[in-house]
Amino acid sequence: MTTSNSALPPMRLRIIGYWVDDDRPDLPDPANFVDPDWDPGKRQAVANYLNAGRPIGAECGCSPCRICGAPNGFEEFTDGVYQWPEGLAHYVLDHSARLPNEIVEHALRSTNSSTFVGLVDTEWWIAATG
Ligand SMILES: [Zn+2]
Repeated sequence: MTTSNSALPPMRLRIIGYWVDDDRPDLPDPANFVDPDWDPGKRQAVANYLNAGRPIGAECGCSPCRICGAPNGFEEFTDGVYQWPEGLAHYVLDHSARLPNEIVEHALRSTNSSTFVGLVDTEWWIAATG
């Protein structure tokens, strides 16, 4: 593998919404995130945000909902900051799984503005020559 000065810094997507199962007993249990009193407007906004993610591939097979057992998608989505499974919006919307504040605020901020939320590297372009 070769590297050069023009390489962007390596980007790490923070994974969210992957839940406990037999293969990954270390992952969180969605039941611990359920908050029936969570504001329905925010819940809907976060679910919309999650559904509008950019698909970046498919998991192996369909992932059933850990709470109700319904088939719950197989794609992986990203927004350039987080990566989550397609079915995460189902937990938010249908089971009122309240995601950590960091994610809720990120989703609401991104929904309410057209500004790209990632870090912008200006130095490379400023130093570029024709
Ligand atoms: Zn479910």
